[in-house]
Amino acid sequence: MRDVEYESGEESAYECFDCGNITLAELKPSTCPDCGGQMRNRRMPLE
Ligand SMILES: [Zn+2]
Repeated sequence: MRDVEYESGEESAYECFDCGNITLAELKPSTCPDCGGQMRNRRMPLE
């Protein structure tokens, strides 16, 4: 096991619970920019 250090500026995908809107951001958005719903981190596998 090793720690994975993300470079600064690395963006993660966050998905809205309510409308499914996906936003890329460095920091977790408190609310969905579209509908104001809650966002959750979403892992997007590359393969
Ligand atoms: Zn939303």
